[in-house]
Amino acid sequence: MTKKAIIIGAGVAGPIMALQLKKIGYEAELFESRSAEDIHEGAFIGITPNGLNVMKEFVDLESLKSDFTPGSISFYNNSGKQIAELQTDYQRSLYGCETLQIKRSNLNIKAREAAVKHGVIINYGKKFKSINQSEDKVSATFEDGSAATGDILIACDGMFSAVRSFLFQDSKLLRYTKLISTGGFARVQELSAPTSEIQMHFCERGFFAYAVSDRGEVWWFNNYYREVEPNRTELQHSLREEIRSHLLEIHKNDNPIFSTIIKNTGDIIAYPVYDLPSLPHWYKGRVCLIGDAAHGISPHLGQGASLALEDTLVLSHCLGTEKTIESAFRQFQDQRRPRVEKTIKTAQKVGNTKSKINPVAAWFRDRLIGFFIKKQIQQLDWLYGWKLGK
Ligand SMILES: Cc1cc2nc3c(=O)[nH]c(=O)nc-3n(C[C@H](O)[C@H](O)[C@H](O)COP(=O)(O)OP(=O)(O)OC[C@H]3O[C@@H](n4cnc5c(N)ncnc54)[C@H](O)[C@@H]3O)c2cc1C
Repeated sequence: MTKKAIIIGAGVAGPIMALQLKKIGYEAELFESRSAEDIHEGAFIGITPNGLNVMKEFVDLESLKSDFTPGSISFYNNSGKQIAELQTDYQRSLYGCETLQIKRSNLNIKAREAAVKHGVIINYGKKFKSINQSEDKVSATFEDGSAATGDILIACDGMFSAVRSFLFQDSKLLRYTKLISTGGFARVQELSAPTSEIQMHFCERGFFAYAVSDRGEVWWFNNYYREVEPNRTELQHSLREEIRSHLLEIHKNDNPIFSTIIKNTGDIIAYPVYDLPSLPHWYKGRVCLIGDAAHGISPHLGQGASLALEDTLVLSHCLGTEKTIESAFRQFQDQRRPRVEKTIKTAQKVGNTKSKINPVAAWFRDRLIGFFIKKQIQQLDWLYGWKLGK
């Protein structure tokens, strides 16, 4: 009899997980808390060769290149002088594809379209509530009173996973990193020609990064140090205006184009940066967590989506080869943990360099950054060159 998987969350990992499971003979059904139309939240995210190489089995990568900015970065010092470059074109020959920045909503749309095309059902407006497990089945209930039953349940419900909280009562495991990630989209007359790179400017009192997309839209981001974790009301109301005035203030003596970009941005996207450095267990009985639900990562390495995509391939491989569900989940956790925890730590280190500005450190950074970036390219092979079983 065909086994059935219940998947909670149709973000980036959920739809691709469903497709991977179909390949090994499972029927998979998705349950997403938001409505089908409620997809446009979020800014843009990086997707690197390790994630793209999983995605390409189901999504034509060229189709991601409509509405994107490239992954190459040029670094500039306070006087506007270029001090280093991190090109990504070398990735094409090594890994077959090259880092892209795309709108989170578009990545999500492509993943969902691929799943639906292959007959996967996505149920919207299904907010996860609870789980019941028996000897041979698992059921999920939803806030609207409905329920679904299957042989396994895969939680792809992101950083604030309700499935994780239900299984492990983990309220203290998420870590607020004291940074607020901010960014947005703007139309600026002087900046309408697409750029071949992201420009990362180390300014007097903070950095400012932007690129112009293939559609002539400015995509920008900045990290903002905030000691105190914002509460829900601040996030929805005052924080965005606080950030706009803060950014205008810290960039008032820098290249005026930064202020123009900030002023021309409609809604500034802002969310506090969290991570989940080490969850003791990623599974319980017939339920397994993947992606941000199992190992939330801060955005500084651009790996959240790519790690989640890698997970889908590894978990389906384990389920397809191991004799029991328990051993498949254990294998999955054991194989993935060292890599994801190393990646989370690396992202933390990058995040720490953004937290506070120290003039001496800035002086060294401006002189040594080129050297470190050259080394970085060799050092990132472990990340981008990932393959199943490697
Ligand atoms: C709205 C949103 C905006 C984001 N914006 C950015 C960004 O600007 N930059 C960045 O780097 N990263 C962003 N991220 C995070 C990034 O998308 C993830 O790191 C990455 O996609 C990991 O994939 P995932 O599938 O594990 O989780 P996600 O892609 O986050 O998917 C989780 C899914 O689960 C759904 N869900 C949550 N709770 C429940 C529930 N109780 N019941 C059912 N479904 C549930 C969510 O609606 C979402 O669709 C954002 C995530 C979200 C949800």
